[in-house]
Amino acid sequence: MTDKEVQQFVILDGKKTSREIEVEIAEETRKLVPVVGRPPHLAAILVGEDIASRTYVKSKFKACKRVGFKDTLVTFDASVSQETILGKVAVFNNDPGLDGYIVQLPLPDHISVEIVTDHIDPKKDVDGFTPANFGKMGLPDPSLLPATSRGIMELLARYDIDTRGKHCVVVGYSHIVGSPVSILLAGPGKATVTVCHIYTKDLAFHTRQADILVVAVGKPNLITCDMVKDGVVIVDVGINRIPDSSAKRGYVIKGDVDFENVADKCSHITPVPGGVGPMTIASLLLNTLDAYKRAHQF
Ligand code: NAD
Repeated sequence: MTDKEVQQFVILDGKKTSREIEVEIAEETRKLVPVVGRPPHLAAILVGEDIASRTYVKSKFKACKRVGFKDTLVTFDASVSQETILGKVAVFNNDPGLDGYIVQLPLPDHISVEIVTDHIDPKKDVDGFTPANFGKMGLPDPSLLPATSRGIMELLARYDIDTRGKHCVVVGYSHIVGSPVSILLAGPGKATVTVCHIYTKDLAFHTRQADILVVAVGKPNLITCDMVKDGVVIVDVGINRIPDSSAKRGYVIKGDVDFENVADKCSHITPVPGGVGPMTIASLLLNTLDAYKRAHQF
């Protein structure tokens, strides 16, 4: 697109929307604190030195501070045993002063994500990863929703994008994003959903049919201009660090969609960064507030 051309597509601005949600959360928190006697409290378990994980946790706690939540960070060496992590999980489960917590992924190979997740009290599972919360997602009365998927649904809703009867194509079927978002789109979203993954034959055939395309793979430029139809809504979940010596940090963040060449065909598209990422954090805060309210019978 040249400077002279008018931008036709709408940016689904996750940063702006998440800040609006934070204002709402902060307001509700201010009202509830005098009644409950303490603010909502979110904790995180961080294992090892992974720079990206540290950055994510830092952003989550900065957001906690903005809305008036208490936050607690517990860090462990990468060599920590699974038993020690499970011990901390048990302490968190039994702490009445803690409303929710996350175990930041990835974990070192000797620690089973499934076993650790299985031990998290579903009432405090603000990432929405436990089998109980995942299972309830498909029922009429869901509990804490997987944070990224909740963020995607919230972003679409706040831009008045009605998913009812639309053909949504989800690329990626991990239990973190692709699978839960396809369930939410088909269930409460009332959309017709096609799910694609690494074994899908002729990915472009499917993506070209999408009214709404959600891409959660982790491969830069997977979705190119010829793979989408005019007027599509695109939600790009991917986070890819591309080495770039001209960038201050030595890398730039890109999504899974070739934004520069695809955006012009879209009616709406999320940027990366500044799209789904901030909405995931906003949803973590919403889940923590929900857990806090449920624990205190609001
Ligand atoms: P994952 O590796 O667990 O799953 C990737 C999925 O993509 C799998 O289902 C796989 O079958 C599919 N896939 C791989 N190659 C494919 C191809 N060529 N064509 C079609 N499907 C293909 O990853 P994940 O945890 O779901 O994360 C996906 C991406 O989303 C990553 O970049 C991750 O960093 C990002 N992410 C972002 C947020 C956020 O808040 N923005 C949150 C979670 C994950």
